[in-house]
Amino acid sequence: MAPAHQDFYCDSVLNGRVPVTLVAETDRVLAFHHTSPAWETHIVVIPKQHVRSLVDADSALVAELFQIVVQIIKERKFDQSSFKVVTNGGTYQSTEHLHVHLVSGRPLNPDDPFQARELLL
Ligand SMILES: [Zn+2]
Repeated sequence: MAPAHQDFYCDSVLNGRVPVTLVAETDRVLAFHHTSPAWETHIVVIPKQHVRSLVDADSALVAELFQIVVQIIKERKFDQSSFKVVTNGGTYQSTEHLHVHLVSGRPLNPDDPFQARELLL
């Protein structure tokens, strides 16, 4: 299943075209529930400004992204249950805008090859 957009986050999320349920927000970072979750809890954390992938992010942005990830993990006590943090690059990356997946609980559809590739089940 090929993605319809090369940059889903700029094209659809950051401009409000696709509504999302916010989890956390800072000046530079947005965290929200994945619009097509692959796990029981599936949160996406993105920079509000366009950054293509992890290798293009400055260290302050990387720190801010992971501060939000850790804040959500602690708030939801995922450290006492389960969590996985994944960001993809190169041919693993389906949307060319840096995004970090924070997932917890069970995979919803582990036989889906797209989900398996995106999230290294
Ligand atoms: Zn973008």
